[in-house]
Amino acid sequence: MAAICPNCHLPEMVAYIVNDEGTHPLPCLNQEVCGVIVARSTPYGHLMGSAPCATSDCQGSVRDEYRYDANGRLSRLDRVRCQLCGTDKTEVIKDAGSTPERPLPDPRMPGIAGRRVPHG
Ligand SMILES: [Zn+2]
Ligand SMILES: [Zn+2]
Repeated sequence: MAAICPNCHLPEMVAYIVNDEGTHPLPCLNQEVCGVIVARSTPYGHLMGSAPCATSDCQGSVRDEYRYDANGRLSRLDRVRCQLCGTDKTEVIKDAGSTPERPLPDPRMPGIAGRRVPHG
């Protein structure tokens, strides 16, 4: 199961697990530019991710609504169907998971430079 990221709005970037205790989302898979953690937000917060629907000739979008409880924990994650065609499927990104151009993380990535780990 995966949802649309409410920060970078790429489809199926927030994988989540549903069990008896609730919904447990993982950080956004789009780590390089996003990586947002949606498990927690402000109390009674409301976030929304939006992405084009899977129907090729449709201009509509599919949304995921994130709702938070009094403790700022994700309490509900609801998919909202496309208002135009009614699908709840998002556009599939081809080649997801295989990025041949970047086999290794770039050491010059922004955000890492100011966080040096001291060596023994
Ligand atoms: Zn994201
Ligand atoms: Zn549609």
